[in-house]
Amino acid sequence: MKRKDFFKTSMAAGLGTMFSFGARPSPSPALGKARNIIFFAYDGFSWEDYSSAQHYSLRNFGRPLHLHKLFKTGSAGSMESHSLTSMVTDSSAATTTWATGQKIVNGSLSVYPDGEKLTTILELAKAAGKATGIISTTRITHATPAGWIAKHINRRAEEEIAEQLVEFKADVMIGGGIRAFDPNQRSDGKDLYKPLLDSGYSIITKPEELEMLTGSKVLATLHNSHIPYEIDRKFRNEAAPSLKEMTRKGVQVLDGANNGFVLLVEAGRIDHANHRNDAGASLWETLAADETLGFLMDYTDRTPGTVLIMASDHGTGGASVYGVGERYRASSNIHDFLNRRTASFDWVMEQLGENPSESHIKDVLENATKIRISAGQAVMMKNAVSGNITMPDPAAYPRQPIATLAYILKGGTNEDPTRLNINFGTTQHTAGAVPAAVYGNKVEVKPFGIVDNTDFFYWMTESLGIDFQNPKMSPEKALEYY
Ligand code: ZN
Ligand code: MG
Ligand code: ZN
Repeated sequence: MKRKDFFKTSMAAGLGTMFSFGARPSPSPALGKARNIIFFAYDGFSWEDYSSAQHYSLRNFGRPLHLHKLFKTGSAGSMESHSLTSMVTDSSAATTTWATGQKIVNGSLSVYPDGEKLTTILELAKAAGKATGIISTTRITHATPAGWIAKHINRRAEEEIAEQLVEFKADVMIGGGIRAFDPNQRSDGKDLYKPLLDSGYSIITKPEELEMLTGSKVLATLHNSHIPYEIDRKFRNEAAPSLKEMTRKGVQVLDGANNGFVLLVEAGRIDHANHRNDAGASLWETLAADETLGFLMDYTDRTPGTVLIMASDHGTGGASVYGVGERYRASSNIHDFLNRRTASFDWVMEQLGENPSESHIKDVLENATKIRISAGQAVMMKNAVSGNITMPDPAAYPRQPIATLAYILKGGTNEDPTRLNINFGTTQHTAGAVPAAVYGNKVEVKPFGIVDNTDFFYWMTESLGIDFQNPKMSPEKALEYY
């Protein structure tokens, strides 16, 4: 047996077991009949990330997160997330599973490796006469929002994905991603704004125009790529809308729909910050999501027939908040060092430029984190910027030079607790079960325990009165292709 074949066989054997225990849908937490469904995706958000932000909020703002309230007053639990051929999912397979009830191979959107396409919840909702929408802090052509509409074997084909978004015509599309619509930036020179303008869309590309945006069909692409991080918006005056502002506008537009709506909202950059092991950016993405969640819970409270679902798609970065000091009693104080972070690592890298001096590196890092790094650490960072990675086990941290930056800033020791007590285990996604909750005035308030990511599709279709089953593929069959 060739090594590759052995690998495939052993993978398929393990996955067969996973597949069978995920196959039976968990009992619905009794959503009741829904007129509107709002699905709020937290990309790359683990239970550890939740605990970190919850403690931060209690200590720095004197109040719990809205997310804490959601877990207490909604129906909450954990969600397992493996994809069709891997115990670790990526965002495209994960969003597909929410949208279709089926697991697929990582890297594709709502299509099996043999080309067979799946039908998404937004297509079903539209066919049932409902308005539809996608809102994200990422490019709207990025995996999580796009996967509820587009079908593509390769999630990176965002120009083609944009064409599919234009063809589908969701009533609300708000996020980043000008570059996939702009004729001056697309490789084929097509203007994808034009067909939407011709079919009556209100279209904007500047954050300051969001407030005044009106119409029953809107496209707001508010940044060339992703919407800048909340931490840079807040502390570095980056021109960007907040997730709450984008969501408020989207809900305002959809609220007028005759027959209700299905809306996907994504806090898409918790994942990006965690990939970069950037604890400050990750915290502020979570806090921006939380402010948005508060708005959505209020909307759900005052709008009968609305069901709000919150779920993370997987963990990213494997952050752990660890105990510090005698009886760990310094832990919370050290965790407060998070409030010294006032810029994202992206901002830091931009300030460093191509060939920074050691003193410039020290100054920029002190500006962004209030930590004065040592001479040795400055050399290490200088080397990393020029591609010379010296941190231990670089293979576990392939995203460079940003992973070196995280390594330099990471924790002190029990004896010398001078650094933030958050360690990241990887720059990749992780396999652990993640937070999820369902909220609405007809939703039963009882824990749903641990569910599979396939379940959400069935909860949504059942609640909308839609009976639909997508075709299945076995992991063994999928492995014949990849
Ligand atoms: Zn993700
Ligand atoms: Mg995403
Ligand atoms: Zn990711």
